[in-house]
Amino acid sequence: MNTNIARYSFVAVAFIFLYTLFSNPAYSQVPNYDLQEIKPGVYVVSAGGYNSMFMVTQKGVVVVDAPPAIGDKIFAAVSNVTDKPITHLIYSHAHKDHIGAANIFENVTIIAHNKTAEILIDRNDTNRPVPDMVFFNEMNLPIGDQEIQLLYPGPYHQRGNIFVYMPEHKVLMAGDYVVPGGVLWKHLGVTPDVPTLIKSIDQALALDFDVFVGGHGQPGTKQDVIVQQEYVNDLQENAKAALNEVNRTEVIQGINGSNAITEAYFNALTKSCTDKTDAEWKSKLEGVGVWTDEHCERMIISERVT
Ligand SMILES: [Zn+2]
Repeated sequence: MNTNIARYSFVAVAFIFLYTLFSNPAYSQVPNYDLQEIKPGVYVVSAGGYNSMFMVTQKGVVVVDAPPAIGDKIFAAVSNVTDKPITHLIYSHAHKDHIGAANIFENVTIIAHNKTAEILIDRNDTNRPVPDMVFFNEMNLPIGDQEIQLLYPGPYHQRGNIFVYMPEHKVLMAGDYVVPGGVLWKHLGVTPDVPTLIKSIDQALALDFDVFVGGHGQPGTKQDVIVQQEYVNDLQENAKAALNEVNRTEVIQGINGSNAITEAYFNALTKSCTDKTDAEWKSKLEGVGVWTDEHCERMIISERVT
């Protein structure tokens, strides 16, 4: 008898607990985004593999990037930590996967590099409004009690891509750049100019920061940027070595047609660079062994013509 009472009591308590749990709005509305405070008043919002960042100042909130993958979740994230209005939106670069939800922001000042403005005028995309303010090399943006520096390191990924630097917080953000724990995206982050990419890493490392925020992945540290520099330096060395060591005459023997000959030679160069790079870097960074051949090919093409 006592056992039965205990059993019924347990079932009743479990039912009440589960009913309370699932009927409580706090549990049924689990946010479908991640929100991290990386420094006091500085936040990273993540959803669907994309990041956007925002900073709460005395005067209002400054948001960097508006990826469609995050969309209006950014508003939920901001109102989760402050009732101040969003006053500014900064574009890290013009690509639609990073700023294609900019049209949902109202009454904000949009800031970007002049070349990003040129691209957006050309694209004529209502989802990506043309910025209200532009800069060329550098812009200091004092907003409320905070200062944000916008810097142009040249087109490491797309013309008009910028560094967003917060010196007081020692935070650096750059979209489609270093992914902490991983390698650059395909073809060295589809860089239009490898020397500019290499130089941009020097420029980033000259800044005093201890938190790095990319457009994708978890926030990292300056060490992640240092590791990326070492990876790119090794790629460059291995690309140069391939150009010195691969015997073109041997590789193209028996192959006919100028395009087929070029392809065979480049495949041999790429294989030489990839084998060395994989041996040095496999298991150190995510994406090594997946995109090493594309990184090598991009570096070899650059080394041949730079
Ligand atoms: Zn991009």
